[in-house]
Amino acid sequence: MIHFNQKKCTGCGVCAAVCPQQVIAIQKKQAVMQNYRSCLECGACRQNCEFEAIELTKGTGCLYAIVKEDILKITPKGSGCGCDDDQEEGCC
Ligand code: SF4
Ligand code: SF4
Repeated sequence: MIHFNQKKCTGCGVCAAVCPQQVIAIQKKQAVMQNYRSCLECGACRQNCEFEAIELTKGTGCLYAIVKEDILKITPKGSGCGCDDDQEEGCC
Protein backbone atom coordinates (compact mmCIF):
# COMPACT_ATOMS: atom_id res chain seq x y z
CA MET A 1 0.00 0.00 0.00
CA ILE A 2 1.24 3.46 -0.83
CA HIS A 3 0.45 6.63 1.03
CA PHE A 4 1.51 10.12 0.06
CA ASN A 5 2.12 12.62 2.82
CA GLN A 6 0.50 15.72 1.36
CA LYS A 7 2.31 18.00 3.78
CA LYS A 8 5.71 16.76 2.63
CA CYS A 9 4.97 16.32 -1.07
CA THR A 10 6.18 19.20 -3.22
CA GLY A 11 4.78 17.87 -6.47
CA CYS A 12 8.25 17.59 -7.98
CA GLY A 13 7.16 14.62 -10.11
CA VAL A 14 10.18 12.40 -9.54
CA CYS A 15 8.06 9.53 -8.23
CA ALA A 16 5.84 9.63 -11.31
CA ALA A 17 8.89 9.72 -13.58
CA VAL A 18 10.60 6.69 -12.03
CA CYS A 19 7.48 4.52 -11.69
CA PRO A 20 7.69 1.74 -14.28
CA GLN A 21 3.93 1.22 -14.23
CA GLN A 22 2.64 4.79 -14.59
CA VAL A 23 0.84 4.44 -11.29
CA ILE A 24 1.44 7.98 -10.08
CA ALA A 25 0.20 11.28 -11.48
CA ILE A 26 0.79 14.85 -10.37
CA GLN A 27 -2.35 16.89 -9.85
CA LYS A 28 -2.45 20.36 -8.36
CA LYS A 29 1.20 19.99 -7.25
CA GLN A 30 0.50 16.75 -5.38
CA ALA A 31 1.34 13.14 -6.16
CA VAL A 32 -1.77 10.98 -6.49
CA MET A 33 -2.45 7.37 -7.39
CA GLN A 34 -4.02 7.01 -10.80
CA ASN A 35 -3.62 3.31 -11.45
CA TYR A 36 -3.21 1.51 -8.12
CA ARG A 37 -3.88 -1.98 -9.47
CA SER A 38 -0.73 -1.81 -11.58
CA CYS A 39 1.56 -1.06 -8.64
CA LEU A 40 4.30 -3.66 -8.20
CA GLU A 41 5.34 -2.28 -4.80
CA CYS A 42 8.86 -2.13 -6.17
CA GLY A 43 9.73 0.82 -3.94
CA ALA A 44 11.26 2.97 -6.67
CA CYS A 45 9.00 5.91 -5.90
CA ARG A 46 9.86 5.88 -2.22
CA GLN A 47 13.56 5.42 -2.78
CA ASN A 48 13.65 8.42 -5.11
CA CYS A 49 11.51 10.84 -3.12
CA GLU A 50 14.01 13.18 -1.49
CA PHE A 51 11.27 14.70 0.64
CA GLU A 52 10.33 11.40 2.30
CA ALA A 53 6.72 11.97 1.32
CA ILE A 54 5.95 8.36 0.43
CA GLU A 55 5.14 5.57 2.83
CA LEU A 56 5.08 2.07 1.40
CA THR A 57 3.88 -0.89 3.41
CA LYS A 58 3.80 -4.53 2.50
CA GLY A 59 0.88 -5.68 0.42
CA THR A 60 0.14 -8.64 -1.75
CA GLY A 61 2.56 -7.66 -4.50
CA CYS A 62 5.81 -6.84 -2.71
CA LEU A 63 8.16 -7.41 -5.62
CA TYR A 64 11.31 -7.15 -3.52
CA ALA A 65 10.04 -9.86 -1.16
CA ILE A 66 8.99 -12.10 -4.05
CA VAL A 67 12.44 -11.92 -5.66
CA LYS A 68 14.27 -12.38 -2.38
CA GLU A 69 12.20 -15.15 -0.86
CA ASP A 70 10.67 -17.02 -3.79
CA ILE A 71 13.43 -16.72 -6.40
CA LEU A 72 16.66 -16.24 -4.42
CA LYS A 73 15.36 -18.34 -1.52
CA ILE A 74 16.66 -15.94 1.10
CA THR A 75 14.65 -16.14 4.30
CA PRO A 76 13.95 -12.72 5.77
CA LYS A 77 15.36 -11.92 9.19
CA GLY A 78 13.09 -10.49 11.82
CA SER A 79 9.56 -9.43 11.11
CA GLY A 80 7.95 -8.25 7.90
CA CYS A 81 8.99 -9.25 4.44
CA GLY A 82 12.68 -8.52 5.04
CA CYS A 83 12.99 -5.66 2.60
CA ASP A 84 15.21 -3.68 4.94
CA ASP A 85 17.54 -6.51 5.97
CA ASP A 86 20.38 -5.41 3.70
CA GLN A 87 19.46 -1.84 2.89
CA GLU A 88 19.32 1.40 4.81
CA GLU A 89 15.64 1.56 4.02
CA GLY A 90 13.54 -1.30 2.74
CA CYS A 91 10.89 -0.91 0.12
CA CYS A 92 8.10 -1.76 2.51
S1 SF4 B 1 8.86 12.47 -5.43
FE1 SF4 B 1 7.99 12.88 -3.37
S2 SF4 B 1 7.81 15.13 -3.27
FE2 SF4 B 1 8.08 14.56 -5.45
S3 SF4 B 1 5.96 14.39 -6.24
FE3 SF4 B 1 6.59 12.34 -5.58
S4 SF4 B 1 5.86 12.16 -3.44
FE4 SF4 B 1 5.82 14.34 -3.99
S1 SF4 C 1 6.05 1.04 -5.77
FE1 SF4 C 1 6.91 0.91 -7.89
S2 SF4 C 1 5.15 0.41 -9.20
FE2 SF4 C 1 4.31 1.12 -7.23
S3 SF4 C 1 3.92 3.33 -7.50
FE3 SF4 C 1 5.99 3.11 -6.61
S4 SF4 C 1 7.41 3.06 -8.38
FE4 SF4 C 1 5.31 2.64 -9.16
